[in-house]
Amino acid sequence: MKIHEYQGKELFRKYGVPTPRGILALSPNEAEAAATELGTSVSVVKAQIHAGGRGKGGGVKLAKSPAEAKDLAGQMLGMKLKTIQTGPEGQTVHKVYIEEGLAIGQELYLGVTLDRATSRITFMASREGGVEIEEVAATHPEKILRESVDPVVGFRDFQGRKLAFGLGLSGPTVNKFVQFCSALYRMYVETDAALVEINPLVILKDGGVVALDAKVNFDENALYRHKDLLEYRDVAEEDPREAQAKEHDLAYIALDGNIGCMVNGAGLAMATMDTIKLVGGNPANFLDVGGGATKEKVTSAFKLILADPNVKAVLVNIFGGIMKCDVIAEGIIAAAKEVQLKVPLVVRLEGTNVEKGKELLANSGLAITPADNLRQAAEKAVAAVK
Ligand code: ADP
Ligand code: MG
Repeated sequence: MKIHEYQGKELFRKYGVPTPRGILALSPNEAEAAATELGTSVSVVKAQIHAGGRGKGGGVKLAKSPAEAKDLAGQMLGMKLKTIQTGPEGQTVHKVYIEEGLAIGQELYLGVTLDRATSRITFMASREGGVEIEEVAATHPEKILRESVDPVVGFRDFQGRKLAFGLGLSGPTVNKFVQFCSALYRMYVETDAALVEINPLVILKDGGVVALDAKVNFDENALYRHKDLLEYRDVAEEDPREAQAKEHDLAYIALDGNIGCMVNGAGLAMATMDTIKLVGGNPANFLDVGGGATKEKVTSAFKLILADPNVKAVLVNIFGGIMKCDVIAEGIIAAAKEVQLKVPLVVRLEGTNVEKGKELLANSGLAITPADNLRQAAEKAVAAVK
C-alpha cells in the first residue's frame, strides 16, 4: 500500500526521523494560511499524489509569500499532474502540502527495502540524490552504497557510520545521520514497511540531516495488524478497477491491451499473458480469481474485465484442481448471462470433470468458443479481436 508524502512524514516524526515542518492544505485559502503559520520567507507547495518525479512535472514549487503559495496551490489543485511515474494521463491533485523552505547544502539518496537475494533489510545510500536512483543503479552501480541488517541484532551504529563516511559526511553530521538511520530502521520494522525511499535526504547548510521527500510503501499482507495505517489509504489515488478488485478479493492489474483475461492462479495468469503476447496479442489485464473460484467471484471478475472499454474479447483459462470444471462452467455461464456478455468469449478448461464442463458450455446457448489448450485459446482470442 502506498501513502502520500505528508503521511510518510507524519510517521517519520512519530519515530524521530527529522522532517521539515509542513501543513496539509485542501484549498488555496488553506495554503495561504499554512504558509503564514509556517512563517518562513520561502515555503514550498507540493502536490500530493502517489507518484514521484513531481518536481520535474511542475508539482513542487517555491513560494516567496503566503499570497504566492495561495496562487500556486490554486494552479496545482485539480490539475492532472504528469510525471514519469504517473503514466500519460497524469493524476489529479486533490491535496497540497505546504512546507517550510530549507537551505539545502547537499542532496543525497537513502532507501530501505527488503533485499530478497540476502533476505535482509538493506539500506541503500548514494551521493547522487535528487536524481532517479534507477538511472544511477543502471549506469553507476558503484555509486550506491549498501548495508544489510542482521535481523537478530538490528541496525548497528557502525553501519550508519560506514554509510556516512561512504557518503563523504563529516563532523557532527555523521552522528546525526547515524541517528536518522536508526530511527528509520525502527519505523521500517515496526510498521511492516516494504519500501522507504528518501530522495532527497538533505544535509542542511547548518549540518542538519532532514528527510525532504518521503516515499513509504507497506506490506499489504501485514496490514491486518496495523489498523492505524489503514487510515492512510487513499482510494482516490488507486486505479478504480484495482480498488474494486481488492473488495472482491481478486488480484487484478489493469494493462493496456484488448484481451481480457480471467485465470485462476498467479502463475497460470502470467503464463496466459505470455502466451497471448507470443501469438501476437495484448492482454488487457492480469487477473487471478484465486484457487476457489466461486460463481460470485467469476461474476465480479467478468464485470471488472468488461468495465474496461478496451476489452474486445475475453479469454478464460481455468484449471480445475481444487474446483471441478463443471462447477466452474456453471459459474461462467451464469456470469456471462448476468453481465450480458457482448464480446467474444474463449474458454479453456482443464482438470477434474473437464468433459462435463465442456458439455455444459457447449449446451449453454451462449456464443462461447471452446479451446483445448492454452496456445489454441490464445490464438482464438487474438483472432477474435482482429
Ligand atoms: P519529487 O521527488 O516528487 O520530485 P521532492 O519532494 O523530492 O519531489 O522535491 C523535488 C525537489 O524540490 C527536491 O529535490 C528539492 O530540491 C526541492 N524541495 C522539495 N521540498 C523542499 C523544501 N521543503 N525546501 C527546499 N527545497 C525543497
Ligand atoms: Mg523526491
